[in-house]
Amino acid sequence: MKLTRREFSRLLALGAGAELLPKIPALADDRPIGYCIVGLGRISMQHFMPAVRMSKKSRVTALVSGHRDKAEHMAAEYGVPGDSIYSYEDYDDIAKNPNIDAVYIALPNSMHAEYTIRAAKAGKHVLCEKPMATSVEDSRSMIQACQSANRKLMIAYRCQYEPVHLRAVEMIREGKIGSIESIESAFGFAIAPNEWRLDKKLSGGGPLVDVGIYCLNASRYLIGEEPVEVKGISSVVDHDGRFAQVEETLSWTARFPNGALANCNCTYGSAMRGYFRVRGSRGTITVDPAFNYDKLHLSAEFDGGGTTEFAPDEPDPVQFLREADHMADCILQNSEPKTPGQEGLRDMEWIAQIYRSCEKSNG
Ligand code: NAD
Repeated sequence: MKLTRREFSRLLALGAGAELLPKIPALADDRPIGYCIVGLGRISMQHFMPAVRMSKKSRVTALVSGHRDKAEHMAAEYGVPGDSIYSYEDYDDIAKNPNIDAVYIALPNSMHAEYTIRAAKAGKHVLCEKPMATSVEDSRSMIQACQSANRKLMIAYRCQYEPVHLRAVEMIREGKIGSIESIESAFGFAIAPNEWRLDKKLSGGGPLVDVGIYCLNASRYLIGEEPVEVKGISSVVDHDGRFAQVEETLSWTARFPNGALANCNCTYGSAMRGYFRVRGSRGTITVDPAFNYDKLHLSAEFDGGGTTEFAPDEPDPVQFLREADHMADCILQNSEPKTPGQEGLRDMEWIAQIYRSCEKSNG
């Protein structure tokens, strides 16, 4: 008798697993999930691929790159066979590769939609980097394509799998700081010239879509509700040519159903360490740094007295390992990712509203 991992889990849940255990041969799908890495840049090579190498649930089985030399070098490092290296032109051939279960898309933002839709058509699940796309329409098309192909679509919101963020959410839900009054959050860095991030066709926007999205997404999951209104304002301080197409700095306020306000700032003009502070009627939770790859630190102060700290100090790339393993679990158990396409779409809708509001306030 050959059981899939899903069938086996179901039997265990029914209490039948124990009796069956000695008789069960190897599971039919008892192998790690095979990821095809699409785009060999900083996030894939320095963080995601090393995380997959640490994983028991997944492995790198294929690569897509425009640079054959770089791809061959990475293939040798990860034990990927030469016939599993693809270019952007022959990407659709991944359909014929049974060792690929899912693609991880780490391309410039405007390419996410095309490579997600082509992956779904090739019968592969998709883990796509944030921001999901460069428009609401493209985000919807990505969801539609994955639904039609009956494939998973997960957006790589690594912080939603990270223990310090999860602890902050848990403390809020348990009422430890009372009802939320406000959130402050910021994230930014000084960008080098000639980055694709400054080319609006490739990026879809400036720091809002790149780093501000962390503050936006965190505000939404910390409060656990959608905003009812957003208002933004953007500006350029450095007139040195870098910000001809995208904003340099952007601030927005989001109002939530209970009246709580999230005030967020993002920039490409200066180093702005990512953090958030949630002020409640009975205390305050601060996570600073909040969006780094490691060394996240939570501190809380309670009005009646007392403080608490939480800083598990997980090394980079464990955040990416948690994310990759969650996707693997969803594929193996046929469950919905915690951060599906709809989660990315909601951010894209709010981003579009923030930009519309900036246009109005900037005249
Ligand atoms: P990067 O510039 O380091 O890598 C981009 C890759 O895309 C490169 O391999 C490049 O060769 C390839 N590429 C293909 N066509 C291209 C084109 N026309 N122009 C430029 N590059 C092209 O970028 P990155 O920092 O790795 O970002 C990639 C994606 O990952 C972005 O969507 C970004 O928002 C996201 N990201 C996520 C995190 C995170 O923590 N989750 C962090 C950084 C970046």
